[in-house]
Amino acid sequence: MAKPIFGELPGVPIGTRFANRDELSKAGVHRPSMAGIAGSRAGGGAESIVLNGGYEDDLDEGSWIVYTGQGGNDPESGRQIADQELTRGNLALTVNELEGIPVRVIRGYKNVSKLSPHAGFRYDGLYYVDKHWHQKGRAGFRIYRFLLRQASVEISPETIAPVLGFRVADRQLVEIQRIVMNTEVAREVKRINEYKCQVCSVRLETVSGPYAEGAHIRPLGHPHNGPDIAPNILCMCANHHVLFDRGAFSVADDRKLIGIDGNLISVRGHTVGDEFLAYHRDHYLALVDGGSR
Ligand SMILES: [Zn+2]
Repeated sequence: MAKPIFGELPGVPIGTRFANRDELSKAGVHRPSMAGIAGSRAGGGAESIVLNGGYEDDLDEGSWIVYTGQGGNDPESGRQIADQELTRGNLALTVNELEGIPVRVIRGYKNVSKLSPHAGFRYDGLYYVDKHWHQKGRAGFRIYRFLLRQASVEISPETIAPVLGFRVADRQLVEIQRIVMNTEVAREVKRINEYKCQVCSVRLETVSGPYAEGAHIRPLGHPHNGPDIAPNILCMCANHHVLFDRGAFSVADDRKLIGIDGNLISVRGHTVGDEFLAYHRDHYLALVDGGSR
């Protein structure tokens, strides 16, 4: 398989038209002839995506897009007929998110948006993957969704929450991304755990004192709306916090770790909520088996 090429392509300015998928592919703008996401090598990001009405849950607002991941759809109708999995192109887009790699966006004539070309395909520039999550799509099956935005565009929770059917409960939620990691509750959890990581028991000593992070199990803010309470927070070292947030491991009901060896360390006075662990497993744990789709 050819080496992936990310970002702008020389000689292909924004607005370049292509008559069909074959031309797109030959120009290297979007190489697969069928798939909507280009890029499925293990650990590699996605180079490009095509928005062409293949998925009923896609949402195209121009400067930002809620893109439905691949898999589980009937290619004829675009309807979901099975659950999607966090594999292949879907997994690739999470690499773009993690590493800040932009993805080329191509709109096709079948895309359900005013911005779609009337015929053929058009290269519409680079978008960044802001976040991903999964939910039940219109047809009742699990779909992965990717919030894509152009570099200069900020998207507030108030903008996106109603569109996606989530509630913005109050102003606090809007502020949340700024204040997240150092709330009173998180500090209390870290204090009870003596700033030791509940995964590896490491306690980082700095000149200012011990350092640990409060990891929300079910994340705050949209679209997860987890609560900022002690049962939803784990005390972790910086490394395990990142790995946990990125689904590299999770925790079973019996507190055995999934994805890495060991058990979650429990301390008296800090009860961890089973419901939050279940949410984390459900949302973040990539399926180990690649699946068939
Ligand atoms: Zn740790």
